[in-house]
Amino acid sequence: MNAPQSLPLEFPVFDNSFAALPEAFYTRLQPQSLPAPYVVGISSEVAELLGLPPALLESPEFAEIFAGNRQLPGAEPLAAVYSGHQFGVWAGQLGDGRAHLLGGLRNDLGHWEIQLKGAGKTPYSRGADGRAVLRSSIREFLCSEAMAGLGVPTTRALCIIGADYPVRREAIETAAVVTRVAPGFVRFGSFEHWSSRRKPLELQQLADYVIDTFRPECRVAPNPYDALLRDVSRRTGELMAHWMAVGFMHGVMNTDNMSILGLTLDYGPFGFMEAFDAGHICNHSDHQGRYTYRNQPHVGQWNLYRLADAFLPLIKSPQQARAAVDDTYGDAFAMAFERLMLAKLGLRNGLPDDEEFIGNTFAFLQQHRPDFTLFFRTLSKLPAVKIESTAGPATIETTAGPRVNPENQAKTDAPLRDQFIDPAACDAWLASWRARQAQTPWSDAERQSAMLAANPKYVLRNWLAEKAIRLANKKDFSEVHRLLTCLRKPYDEQPEFEEYAALPPDWARGLEVSCSS
Ligand code: AMP
Ligand code: MG
Repeated sequence: MNAPQSLPLEFPVFDNSFAALPEAFYTRLQPQSLPAPYVVGISSEVAELLGLPPALLESPEFAEIFAGNRQLPGAEPLAAVYSGHQFGVWAGQLGDGRAHLLGGLRNDLGHWEIQLKGAGKTPYSRGADGRAVLRSSIREFLCSEAMAGLGVPTTRALCIIGADYPVRREAIETAAVVTRVAPGFVRFGSFEHWSSRRKPLELQQLADYVIDTFRPECRVAPNPYDALLRDVSRRTGELMAHWMAVGFMHGVMNTDNMSILGLTLDYGPFGFMEAFDAGHICNHSDHQGRYTYRNQPHVGQWNLYRLADAFLPLIKSPQQARAAVDDTYGDAFAMAFERLMLAKLGLRNGLPDDEEFIGNTFAFLQQHRPDFTLFFRTLSKLPAVKIESTAGPATIETTAGPRVNPENQAKTDAPLRDQFIDPAACDAWLASWRARQAQTPWSDAERQSAMLAANPKYVLRNWLAEKAIRLANKKDFSEVHRLLTCLRKPYDEQPEFEEYAALPPDWARGLEVSCSS
């Protein structure tokens, strides 16, 4: 390991708040070096968040630093311990099996912890190799940044560093390290760890750390721990609503993958909804279908109950701990979900029957299975009030007087109707949507631009990630860079990336993702 002072460029000063906790919370250790590392991709946005000097991004040291080969001045690397419930079953101690927290920085934009994922074994590796493969690292890197672009709370990713170092999974792959960045990486399972070991002091120290570092407003509450649990519960409800609204499926919502800050955390076998199916299982290893799209809000709540159990020594009364979740989670989810769905549907003001309309819309999507992203994006561009004639007379004479020419309606609606095997079903739903629009009318131009800002054109479809991975495995990282650029602005029309908005091509039909990473 080179001496820290030999780094030729200035790096922001570390402020290692997690490392200030007692040693019981982690093991201090250095990342394992990775031979001949190279840069696969860098998120310049995250580099800016951290205040990294632009020259560092260009320097040969960059790959060495973020492969874990060279220590940053002020870093105090450590691997944290936690436990958790996996697939509904208590799994005991887990921990950062392949993550090294380098430390934290504080700047005008916030507090940022920097973590290397895949930089070698730790005491929590449980017999595994401590490495991550390029494939899963590309997925985590791109999806973190895509979710940030979508406006979903998430951990971020600064870069992927690759190496030709072989890693064995189902086949031999190559190693990579993703640098993750977030205000904090504390998990529900970090609390479950201490409560399962009957260590109320450590439990309280952890809660105090989270409150003092991230949620100082909880400190003034009659019971700060109750206030913290309510805060986590509310944020988790909002997070679930965001996931549902963009069609994101996490795939492994184990309590050790749930962020205490309400961030999307640990990208593994995630997926974005394509042909709509609320029962879709995106993780090939999830044999019971525990983490389907439709189950996510329920699992979020189940996980919060496990957190509430862990908080018992801090809150004392089981009723109060449970109430902290029950009083907050359902409302936070329902309010955020309704707000996001009204925006997706282009409804400016809510009405009492909207919950039913949203429910009917999901039932319609479930029955006819259009592509979730494409459906809402196409809908955004349809007229809500009047049918604009493109050819032929706008109205035709009928015995009952002039009527909208149905041929023109079909033409205007063709981009959406064409997504359905049964276009009449699409017509019927559109009629109900237009009837609802008529109850709270606004100018079509305003509504369309609002809907385009709520319905992304680009999400990280599995086939897009797969295409980038296949090229990257041949050392061509151009598709990683192009996707990163595109997914940073998912709500913008980007004609140069038109192909990324397309449905999965034939070769991608059988793609499967699993926990192997
Ligand atoms: P995950 O399902 O990815 O959230 O992982 C569950 C636990 O296994 C976490 O504690 C990880 O740190 C650990 N883990 C997963 N893969 C590896 C690996 N290749 N080496 C060491 N630990 C791992
Ligand atoms: Mg995990």
